[in-house]
Amino acid sequence: MKNISKYALLYTSFIILLFGTVYTTEILKDKSIDFHKNILIKQAQTHFADQVNIRDWSSSFGGVYVKANDTLKPNPYLKDNILKAEDGQVLIKVNPAWMTRQISQFIDIDDFKFRIVGLNPINPENKANDFEKRALDYLIKNNAHEYYELKENAIFNYMGALVTKPSCISCHVEQGYKVGAIEGGISIGIDTTNHNYLTLYIQEKIFYLRVIVAILLLSITLLLHKQIKDNEDLVDEISDKGKEVLSTKMLLQEVIDADHSFLMVAKGKRLILANKTMLRFFNCSSLDEFIRKHVYLSNFFIDMKNEEFLSTYIDGEHWVSYLYREQNNREIKILMKKDNKNRYFKAHSKKKIIDNKEVYIIIFDEITKELQKIKTLTEEASKDALTNLFNRGKFDDVLSKEISLAQTTKSPLCIIFLDIDHFKVVNDTYGHNVGDYILIEIANILKSAIRQGDFIARWGGEEFIITLQSTTAEQALILANKIRKIIEHYHFKNGGKQTVSIGVTQYICHESQSAFTKRVDEALYEAKETGRNRVVTK
Ligand code: GH3
Ligand code: MG
Ligand code: MG
Repeated sequence: MKNISKYALLYTSFIILLFGTVYTTEILKDKSIDFHKNILIKQAQTHFADQVNIRDWSSSFGGVYVKANDTLKPNPYLKDNILKAEDGQVLIKVNPAWMTRQISQFIDIDDFKFRIVGLNPINPENKANDFEKRALDYLIKNNAHEYYELKENAIFNYMGALVTKPSCISCHVEQGYKVGAIEGGISIGIDTTNHNYLTLYIQEKIFYLRVIVAILLLSITLLLHKQIKDNEDLVDEISDKGKEVLSTKMLLQEVIDADHSFLMVAKGKRLILANKTMLRFFNCSSLDEFIRKHVYLSNFFIDMKNEEFLSTYIDGEHWVSYLYREQNNREIKILMKKDNKNRYFKAHSKKKIIDNKEVYIIIFDEITKELQKIKTLTEEASKDALTNLFNRGKFDDVLSKEISLAQTTKSPLCIIFLDIDHFKVVNDTYGHNVGDYILIEIANILKSAIRQGDFIARWGGEEFIITLQSTTAEQALILANKIRKIIEHYHFKNGGKQTVSIGVTQYICHESQSAFTKRVDEALYEAKETGRNRVVTK
C-alpha cells in the first residue's frame, strides 16, 4: 500500500474512532440521565399508586369518620361532616379527596410535595396551577393516565389522572362529574437537585472521558504517523542503499568482465561467479548455463600428468586447493582445447573467508601466445639460420636423450660426422655465396637421406652430424657411403663437384657422450688423413 493511502486510512480511522467515541458516550450519557429520570418517574408513580390505593380504600367505605382533634377541622364542603357518637365522642367525616389533601399537608418533606387538584374542585384550594392545568388538559384530551415535565433547574412535576368512580358521584354530583371521566389528578413535585447534580456529574465525566479518549487517539495517531514516516524514511534509505549496492555490483561486474583473464570465484568445488571472458570461452552467456552444460570447469583441463599442470585431482587433492597451496612453489598452468587448438593458461588464486566459508578467487591468464613465442624463440635458438638444420647445442641435447634411450632399450646407436672436403677452396674459387648455397644443398641431401627418427644437425662451418637410432655401425657405414656417393655425383650449380669425408661410430654402452663424439671426430680425422671422400668407421 502506498504511504498516502496509509495516512488517509490512519486519519480516517482517527476521525471514525473520535466520532464513534462521541456517539457512544452520548448514548451512555443519555441512558444514564434517562435511567435517573426513570427513577424520578417511578418514585412519582409509586407515590401516586399509594395515594390511589388509600383513596380507593376510603371510598370503598364512602369515606371514613375519624376522631376530631385540634388539627383536623371538619370539611365544610361535605354534608354530614360531623357525627356525634352515643358516648359524646365527636367524629369528623373524611372523604377520599379530603383525606388526600390532609395527608399532603401532613407530610413534611422538603424535596417532595403532592396535592390533589381538579379543574373544577369543590374546595377552591384544590384548583390547578399552570402546570396542573396543562397536565389535566393533556390527560383529559388524550385520556392518558399520567403526565410529567422535567425541565432543567426546575422541580420534577408529575400528574397522575384520577378517574371518577361511582363512589365519587355522591360528593361531586353538583359539579357534573361523570363515572370514568378524568376530573382531576394528584400532582406530585419532586426536587431535582440530586437529579441535576447527577446529570451535571455525568456530563462532566463524559466530557473528561471524551477529552482523554481524544488525546489518547490523537497520540496513537501521531505515533503511528511518525512510525509510517520513519518506515518511509527507512524504506527510502534502504532503497538508496540498494541502488548504491546494485550500481557498485554492476560496476564491479563491468570491471571483472572487462578483464582479459578468466576471473572466477569458487566455493568448495563449485564455481559461484565467473566473468564474461571465461563464459565467452565456453560459449555460455551465464554461469548457470555453463554449470547446466558442463558441470565442472576442470572437465576441460587436459591431464598432462605433470604437477605444473592442473587436472581435476592432483595426487588426490582437488585442483582449487592444490592451486592455492602450490602456486608459490611453481608456476601452475592449465591446458585446455578450443576449436581443436591448445590454449594455455597461468593460474593464481586468493583465499577469502566470507560468512565463515572459504571462497577462492581464481584467475586464469592466457599464455598461449607467450608460450608459442618462447617455443619459436627456443626453436630459433636451436636452429642454424643458413641450412635450417638444428645446431650443435640442440644436437647435444638430442644425443644425450638418444644415449639414455639406447641404454634403456639396449638398442644400437650410431653417429655420422661429415665434413666437406677443401671447402675453403670453394669459397675462394666461387665466392662465399656459392659456398653458402653448397652448404644448403648438402643439408637438403642429408635430410632426404636419413630416416624418420634420425636426427641431423650442423655441427659448425662445413661439418654436419647425424644420430642414427637402432642402427649398427655396419648399417651406418652403408648409409654414410650412400651419402658420400650422392654428394660425389651431385652437380652443384656454379659450384662444380664436391666430396665429403665421413666418420662413423657406434655407441659403446656406458661411455660418456664426449667420448662417443670424440671417437667419431677421430674417425673423420682419419678419413681426411687417408685421402678424403672416404668413410672411416671407428
Ligand atoms: P678439409 O678438407 O681439410 O676440411 O679442408 P677445408 O678447406 O674444408 O677445411 P678448413 O677448416 O681449412 O676450411 C673450412 C672453410 O669453410 C673455411 C670457411 O671459410 C668455410 N666456411 C665455414 N663456414 C662457412 C659458411 O657458413 N659459409 C661459407 N661460404 N663458408 C664457410
Ligand atoms: Mg672442417
Ligand atoms: Mg672441410
